[in-house]
Amino acid sequence: PEETELEALQHADVAARLPLPQAMSDKYRRGVVGIAAGSARYPGAAVLAVAGALRGGAGAVRYVGPAGNAVISRFPETLVSDRGPAKAGRVQAWVVGPGAGDDAATVAEVLEADVPVLLDADGLRLADREAVRGRGAPTLMTPHAGEAAALLGVSREEVEGARLSAVRELAALYRATVLLKGSTTLVADPGGGPVRVNSTGTPWLATAGSGDVLSGLTGSLLAAGLSARDAGSVGAYLHGLAGRYAADGAPAGAHDVADTIPEAWRDVR
Ligand code: AMP
Ligand code: MG
Repeated sequence: PEETELEALQHADVAARLPLPQAMSDKYRRGVVGIAAGSARYPGAAVLAVAGALRGGAGAVRYVGPAGNAVISRFPETLVSDRGPAKAGRVQAWVVGPGAGDDAATVAEVLEADVPVLLDADGLRLADREAVRGRGAPTLMTPHAGEAAALLGVSREEVEGARLSAVRELAALYRATVLLKGSTTLVADPGGGPVRVNSTGTPWLATAGSGDVLSGLTGSLLAAGLSARDAGSVGAYLHGLAGRYAADGAPAGAHDVADTIPEAWRDVR
């Protein structure tokens, strides 16, 4: 690719975009993130997404879904609701999909919200393409290569072999910002322009639940008011650093990565 097709955020660029609380901040100004994730089968995905969101700087995290008890016992500060996304109360950005199973109705309900939405994992599969294309507020999709391949109707190998064109194609197809995960992370906007690349990660991040932490973290950045492009690239940057600190030459679990996000934050500031 030509050099101008890619751009990388530097430490200082990330620092300038971190949503730091101001003297007059309250929790709403900091941003409320809603998490619609988890299922009876995969309650842990909800816990990990909430963990990422709490470390992402949101003023509050709301959770809707069947894993409320698991979430609240690990993170008592979470606002748990069983009334579904539309009646959950004030939310400034939604994360929908990690471990969500086959709950297409919840995904459809979230897509109707007039706030930024991050679509991940099962949410990518369950989302109606026209519903995504028709949204007024920004959408950020966060597939890994396999999920991107399924959405494009090609093989995983084809995506791996042409990541830059795959991420751009998906962004155009869904009229959404797309963050393609892997050994490097690419972020493409639907209107074109240079694709952001992040390489702060480590192969130790290839572990179950790692992407769920990224979704929550990035959702908080959306709730704080970052654009989908900035939230995706700052989220990937911090998540990559956290992965390095959590797995310093030895394996770590996804919950360790969530616990290390503050270290990444301090390092960038
Ligand atoms: P998921 O597949 O949804 O669990 O997401 C995996 C997360 O780990 C994403 O943030 C990836 O970018 C990251 N990741 C996976 N494999 C690697 C790798 N080999 N090098 C760096 N980051 C990786
Ligand atoms: Mg995933």
